[in-house]
Amino acid sequence: MLVTPKVELHVHLDGALKHTTAWELLKKKNLHLPGNGSYEAFLDSIIVKEPDSLMTFLRGFGIFLPAVIGDLEAIERMSYEFCESAAEQGVIYVEARYCPFLLMPDSFTEANFLSQNTGNHEKNGKQISTKEVVEAVNKGFQDGERQFGTIARTILCCIRGKPEWSKEILDLCIQFKDQGVVGIDIAGDEAGEKPIPGEESGELIDYWRIACCANYFHTFSPIELRMLDAEDIAVFEKAAELGIHRTVHAGEAGPAQMVWKALTVLKAERIGHGYRVLEDDSIYNHCLNKGVHFECCPTSSMLTGSVSICGTKTHPIMRFAQDGASFSISTDDPTVTNTNLSDEYALCAKWGLTIAQLQETNINAMKNSFAEPSIKQSILEKLYSAYGLKNQN
Ligand SMILES: [Zn+2]
Repeated sequence: MLVTPKVELHVHLDGALKHTTAWELLKKKNLHLPGNGSYEAFLDSIIVKEPDSLMTFLRGFGIFLPAVIGDLEAIERMSYEFCESAAEQGVIYVEARYCPFLLMPDSFTEANFLSQNTGNHEKNGKQISTKEVVEAVNKGFQDGERQFGTIARTILCCIRGKPEWSKEILDLCIQFKDQGVVGIDIAGDEAGEKPIPGEESGELIDYWRIACCANYFHTFSPIELRMLDAEDIAVFEKAAELGIHRTVHAGEAGPAQMVWKALTVLKAERIGHGYRVLEDDSIYNHCLNKGVHFECCPTSSMLTGSVSICGTKTHPIMRFAQDGASFSISTDDPTVTNTNLSDEYALCAKWGLTIAQLQETNINAMKNSFAEPSIKQSILEKLYSAYGLKNQN
């Protein structure tokens, strides 16, 4: 490991489901397995190796997410194991994000997107609430923290195109504010209303659901820009008023203006990805002056093609480092990228980031984390001491 201990701010809980657990649950529940039904075929169908299309990326989620959707016990286990994996990477503080609605059985079971896997969920039939989903995640995280020592907090995600969910998500943030939920996010600031209705249209018919997934896991649909929904703006304004921390997926596939909107309209304190901020000097300089923190995800930035959209010679992360921008390194969706945090650090080192710079990303991450002040302080002290740095606070 190049750097330890670590802090991670941008990882989707349900994009971090362990391959072996997904496999085990799919088999146990008699759900659809791709190809010849072998573990190898399963891995092959969910891991994205080369930059490819939206449909390729989403197909993986359609295969492994049914393993946990609508199953509180599985959701708790996923959360517990998430802490275990984080601890193995030397992560001492992590913020994992998810949209509770996307783990609800009725959010997905009738979706054509997951049609191959719907039958058994309907048979299981039990209705659950978003509150129960959050409680299951919290329980997994509390047990995980106790067992493995990694402090794990959560951010609840709103989804572009589903503004009717946002109010309830804010309510959950308020309700669980002192029980592990530290912030709100909106994914998919930038995607068009309708994702590509082409390619695999035979099996993928329900466009809004695909849009939800696309928006949640990535914002890389290079279609027309959407206006922000009034409900979402209201929810983020309310969150700011109530002191609920805010981060926003922006500037990944969408242009720099989306970063500006995230900061000014949605009152974002951090930006998820944000690579394309580099396309507009004035917005980028504003971010540099204000110390806006970018949650960077090296492998996913390549796989989603957002970096190639940028058209810059060096990776935006290198530019951020050069210019002294505040940024950190995260995995985003390790189930699909098949990377762990150490792999991401190795990739950055290959691009030229020094150990000192990688250490600094962790200090910046913690400073910009949504942790309670006492946790923030104690983790920062741990980082300074482990890196042999003087505490600058
Ligand atoms: Zn993300």
